[in-house]
Amino acid sequence: MNLDQWEAKAKACKKCGLAAKRNHVVFGEGNASAPLVLVGEGPGEEEDRTGRPFVGRAGQLLDRALAEAGLDRTMVYICNTVKCRACDWDGEKASNRPPSAEETAACRRWLLPQLAAIRPEVLLCLGAPSARNLIHPDFKITRERGKYFPCEFARTAIATMHPAYILRNGGGGADGGYALLVADIARAWAAALQLRDGRAAVTMAEKEHTSDR
Ligand code: SF4
Repeated sequence: MNLDQWEAKAKACKKCGLAAKRNHVVFGEGNASAPLVLVGEGPGEEEDRTGRPFVGRAGQLLDRALAEAGLDRTMVYICNTVKCRACDWDGEKASNRPPSAEETAACRRWLLPQLAAIRPEVLLCLGAPSARNLIHPDFKITRERGKYFPCEFARTAIATMHPAYILRNGGGGADGGYALLVADIARAWAAALQLRDGRAAVTMAEKEHTSDR
């Protein structure tokens, strides 16, 4: 199945309790053959309302960081580990919460084929929950941010801070880690291009070798 077919199937998913109150399944968007895929944690209120990933305040910060790194959303693919909004309800009032381990595990049925369909060179995990899901289960951003790891869903994976964390941290005058986010995006993109060009060179050499026979 291709990416569009996976998205169509995911949009009807009711495999965990988050289906009950969601407005949209936020599958992901961007360049379906991007060398770099950014993976966050899960949709919030604005994402649930619009069906698009990273469109709230954190998304606006991510757009700014992408632009500072010389990129825009058409050059990369952006998605989340969990496709429906996780929140607690008090009557009709919802407050965001992190997705549970069960919800995260249930949603791997969409995330993994999604990544397999795109086949990125580099995965950039935004925040520890994404890195724990895709790199290793004990991932610590403070210790392991910005390092490359082997990854079964791309040729390598790297993690950086989630833009929402930077927003929370940036209130005291410091940038909250924003400069590191920009630097990590730029490094991940450079690595993705290098790996893609290397792969293209190998493919071309294979073709030439085959046509010589
Ligand atoms: S969070 Fe994922 S597994 Fe749960 S209902 Fe939504 S799409 Fe399905």
